[in-house]
Order: sequence, then C-alpha cells, then structure tokens
Amino acid sequence: MLSRRKFIKKTAALGSFSFLGTFAPSEQLKPSGPIAIATWGNNTKATEQAYKILKSGGYALDAVEQGIHIPEADPNDTSVGYGGNPDRDGFVTLDACVMNEKGNAGSVTFLQHIMHPVSVARQVMEKTPHVLLSGDGALQFALQNGFKKENLLTDSARERWLEWIDKNKYTPIISRNNHDTIGLLAIDSKNTLCGGCSTSGAAYKLHGRVGDSPIIGAGLFVDNETGGATGTGLGELMLKNLSSFLIVEYMRQGIHPQKACEMTVKRMVKKYGTDHQAAFVALDKKGNYGAFSIQPNFDYALSYQDKTIRKASDSYQH
Ligand code: ASP
Repeated sequence: MLSRRKFIKKTAALGSFSFLGTFAPSEQLKPSGPIAIATWGNNTKATEQAYKILKSGGYALDAVEQGIHIPEADPNDTSVGYGGNPDRDGFVTLDACVMNEKGNAGSVTFLQHIMHPVSVARQVMEKTPHVLLSGDGALQFALQNGFKKENLLTDSARERWLEWIDKNKYTPIISRNNHDTIGLLAIDSKNTLCGGCSTSGAAYKLHGRVGDSPIIGAGLFVDNETGGATGTGLGELMLKNLSSFLIVEYMRQGIHPQKACEMTVKRMVKKYGTDHQAAFVALDKKGNYGAFSIQPNFDYALSYQDKTIRKASDSYQH
C-alpha cells in the first residue's frame, strides 16, 4: 500500500486545478468568509466550483449542488454518478442527499439512470413533503421533474465489472481503498451553512444495497447553529454510528471540528476495529474545519479566500 506521503504526492500530480500545495494535517488555517470543503483531495474542482458561486454572493446550497455536479458528470470518477462502478449485477445505482440551513433535507437512494442525483435530492426536499425517495419511485419523480434518463455505465466501468466477475465469483468484497464519495459542505457570504453528498456506493455491492451517503445523520449532517459533517468509506460503519450527526453533536458541545472527527472515528474503532475505512470532514460556523480517518490514505479539498488546497487528513492508523 502507498504511504500517505506518496499517495498525496501521486494524486496531487493528477489534477489540473490551481493547486497551492498539500498541507500537513497539523496546519490549521482558520479561514474567514465563504468556504467549501469536500471529502477527497481530487475534489478540488468541485470545491472551486462551489467557491465561485459563494464568492459571487450565491447561496450555499447552490454552491454545494453545482460543486457536486462535477464528479457526478466525470466519467473518470469511479465512485460517483456517471462512470461509477456498478453493483455486482452491472447496474449503476446512486445515493445522494442534501441538507439546508433550516434543517430540511432531501434524499434519493437506489436511483438509476440519472446523472445528477444530488439535484433530484434537492427537489425531493423542495417540492415534496418527504425526505427520502427510493428506487423506481425516485426515478419516476426525477423524470416527472425534467431529468433525463441516461446510461451511466461507461465502457471502462463495464470492463472493470466484467474483470471483477471473472476474478471474484460474484462475491461482494468490501475494499479498504476503493472509496471516493463526495461530501461537500459550504458556508456562504451570509454565513449560511448547507451540505450535500453523492455516491455510486460500494463497488460491486449487492443489488439494492444502500450505504450511508443518502442517510441524514450518517453520510451527512448539517446544523446551521453549529456546523456540518460528511463522510466517505464503508457505509455500513457510518450507518451503525450515525457518525456525521455525532460529529456535529460533539461540535455543539464546543469541541473543535478536528477533535470531533477524531473522537467519532475512535468511537467507531473501539466497537468495530480497524479493518475498514471511514473518513470525515467537518466545518463549524466559525470557519474552523477538520478531518480524520481510520486508514491513512484520506485527503480532502478546501477552497476559501481565493485559494484551493488539498490537505492530508490525520488518521488512526499510520
Ligand atoms: N460511503 C459510500 C457507501 O458506502 C462509499 C464510499 O465512500 O466510497 O456507499
């Protein structure tokens, strides 16, 4: 496995963003003004897009949604939207959610054929009395609301899946490294906090499996009085801990986001061990932020004060 330093160096070389350097976990800059933070360092284009909207005075939820659209439409992002790895039967099934400053939320699970599930989730929040729509019902809702039905399984995702079938005899294997879900939190110039999360879920999962990403409190939680948190990793772990909610609750007690993420990961490790990855970013209303993961290969993207950085997260395992 790559060391964290090599991983960050390697991944930093891949992007074409205005990269200002990789910052060590201990360097805590305290940004003021609008800010966007996202899981995984390769999401700098998403935080940059979000930041553009924030900087021009836009609403935090618009920034979150537009930022998340970038990996959703990217055929090379194998864990989100178009190009995402399918389930073990070859279907790309998507999970996403949003949460706004009023504590309202919308979510879709097990949604197929729609490029931007985060936008469907937003419409569930804004146009229905419900929080969560699933499967065919979510698809019908999306089509009725003007979304286009598309094939999201790219040729290369199909090839990877066929190779996987050959090697793995149809048994889902949960990998420690194969995670790339985007969770994005943004504070706008009115100091409004919103968040969103989008994923194609665990690669080669059982058909019908839903992870943490669309579940409010597990993959994402936002409280405009306190702060927000979002995660990536093995969804089953986050579902059992409601980890994002827990991080925000720690922050509500006055705990720094960095420490809140760390306390949550340690609580998970105590119960479930260190076999898998769970990784979080958190942002409080004062602009403090933090991240922590079980495995050492997690980094995140951050845009504020006209700069974009990717930063290595501190981790439980080294
Ligand atoms: N958390 C996502 C899920 O379990 C997967 C990931 O982050 O890669 O569906």
